[in-house]
Amino acid sequence: MKKISIIIPVYNEEKVIEELVSRLENATCKLKYNFEFIFVDDGSKDDTLPKLIMLQADNPKLKIIKLSRNWGHQNAYNAGLDYVSGNAVVFMDGDLEDPPEVIQEFIKKWEEGFEVVYAVKETREESWFKKIMFSLFYHFLERFSNISVDKQAGMFSLIDEKVLKELRKCREKNKYYVGLRFFVGFKQAKITYHRDKRFAGSPKQTYRRLVNYALDALFAFSFLPIRLLTFFGIFVLIIITLGTGFIFFAKIFKFNFWIFYDLPGWSSIILLIFFVLGVQMIFMGVLGEYIARILDEVRNRPYYIVEEVFEVEKNSK
Ligand code: UDP
Ligand code: MG
Repeated sequence: MKKISIIIPVYNEEKVIEELVSRLENATCKLKYNFEFIFVDDGSKDDTLPKLIMLQADNPKLKIIKLSRNWGHQNAYNAGLDYVSGNAVVFMDGDLEDPPEVIQEFIKKWEEGFEVVYAVKETREESWFKKIMFSLFYHFLERFSNISVDKQAGMFSLIDEKVLKELRKCREKNKYYVGLRFFVGFKQAKITYHRDKRFAGSPKQTYRRLVNYALDALFAFSFLPIRLLTFFGIFVLIIITLGTGFIFFAKIFKFNFWIFYDLPGWSSIILLIFFVLGVQMIFMGVLGEYIARILDEVRNRPYYIVEEVFEVEKNSK
């Protein structure tokens, strides 16, 4: 029988765990596949881990990977990916915003021969601020990156082991999976679903993390920020060259009008200097974003550390 691995990162989700496992179990028990539920405990400080271990006693499908600290949502998925053994892998958030019942539909599409099946949120129960930010982000990414990411597609998806093999070849540390999933190609299908409210507790992704995440995505899939510098530089050079030529001729032919009067223009010059300084700072910042990312890759530090793996087979040895 084929096997399907479901990766679920959890961070301080003690209030959700029981409901999550029982809904997962209900949603998958009738399907004719072997399942493994890989829970990645991303350094939870509450009772998430003890609860998982307790549930594992009744449910050998649970595999628990305890990370050494909180490494962040994407890295938790990365960690989970290194432990999967299924013929297909499902990515699912552990707060029940992604309903486990949708997994059935993923599998149906997979059986039809699609190697990537991703869910797009038809509706989303989120604050209006987040909604606006998300839609701006997707719009921006769609326009300016070299991949076409479906608007409203998130992590919730299924990939075939073939695709996983290719994803593993993407060696960057800062993996933006949603983008990479489109990047690798293969036959892709999408299904729409209603994204629920999180079952309990508060969102664990801070706004800072979300902003970082968005920047990572943009810098990972677009050279536009750095190209803008070049375009702007060329634009400024053209203007300056034309201006210089114009002034040169004005001096020679002694034009004496408009900006060519000898006015004491110090304030406008100071303003201009500061304006240019500001623009340059921004541009250096953009360069810095790329350099920081290069440094990050070159340092080659681990992007997660596994402290312990809890597996039923392993425990019973
Ligand atoms: N999560 C995680 N590590 C983190 C933050 C979040 O493993 O540092 C998990 C979290 O427990 C949840 C999933 O990632 O299962 C999505 O997080 P959350 O619901 O907080 O994010 P949002 O839905 O707001 O993007
Ligand atoms: Mg959530």
